[in-house]
Amino acid sequence: MNILIVEDDPVSRRLLEVTLRKFGYDVVVTSNGNEALEALQGPSVPSLVISDWMMPGMDGLELCRNIRVMKKSSYTYFIILTAKGGKEDVIKGLDAGADDFLTKPFNSEELKYRVKIGERIINLEQRILKLATTDSLTGVLNRRAFMERMSEEIQRAKREKSPISLILMDIDHFKKVNDTYGHQIGDLVLQRVTDQLIDRSRAYDFVGRYGGEEFVICVLSMEDINPFSIAERMRKNIEAQTIVIDKNNQTIRITASFGVGTCRPESEDGLDDLIKRTDKALYEAKNSGRNRVCLARKE
Ligand code: GH3
Ligand code: MG
Ligand code: MG
Ligand code: MG
Repeated sequence: MNILIVEDDPVSRRLLEVTLRKFGYDVVVTSNGNEALEALQGPSVPSLVISDWMMPGMDGLELCRNIRVMKKSSYTYFIILTAKGGKEDVIKGLDAGADDFLTKPFNSEELKYRVKIGERIINLEQRILKLATTDSLTGVLNRRAFMERMSEEIQRAKREKSPISLILMDIDHFKKVNDTYGHQIGDLVLQRVTDQLIDRSRAYDFVGRYGGEEFVICVLSMEDINPFSIAERMRKNIEAQTIVIDKNNQTIRITASFGVGTCRPESEDGLDDLIKRTDKALYEAKNSGRNRVCLARKE
């Protein structure tokens, strides 16, 4: 786990750093609130902060309040380190959003266990977040998480004046797979198909399970990217894949139909309109013979 230290006094700062490293933690060291806020931007940021209260400029409480209003993808556990230990101070700290207190000078064993409590809560929070946002069968985003992220990406794409696309995919005659081989094999097919979709999407795109045997892929547009050809590549791969379904190496093959819709930055369309149009395209792909990709009409 990565811990962020915020302490203006060099001696205490060094002592904290050495102690936490001795316990096996990775440590990012800062000496004021602004540096700390900067360290909390970007990827792989520390999830636990140990901050001094009294510091010139932004104090520990203000730092904590600033962290609480930041839009972050995961929780930041905040321990405030202070010589103040009165009831009123504790209440002030809790009110600012701190999770725990340590009094100065700290006892290293106490520090160790307080950090462990924080670690436990951070791990729980991460597990809950994962459970709430992923589809348990396939491991991709569930419908709600996908829609939330897609909504954000549409806003961002509009700000950045770039198009963004949605691919809606539905496995063909999937009911037959269940009816012929059983539900468990049906589940296995859903997992294999998800692997194909992930394999054929690019690192910055993301995949979700829309429901049942329907999947969604967000394609963030670039100059040279054609979402139709991404969907076509996915379709071809699914068509070509043989799925081993038992110990005797019996295999089955499936196909899928796709709808592709694009939201242009100048359009007023939101996520709902995009889904509606893309769903129509998928319907068209089904109706015109399945195992094909159809483009949605322009907004
Ligand atoms: P079409 O080509 O028109 O899409 O036909 P289809 O059979 O794929 O479509 P239909 O909507 O008739 O059937 C979807 C099937 O997907 C029915 C349902 O039992 C199955 N299904 C939905 N979720 C799951 C799941 O989690 N596991 C399994 N094994 N089957 C599922
Ligand atoms: Mg200080
Ligand atoms: Mg369906
Ligand atoms: Mg289907």
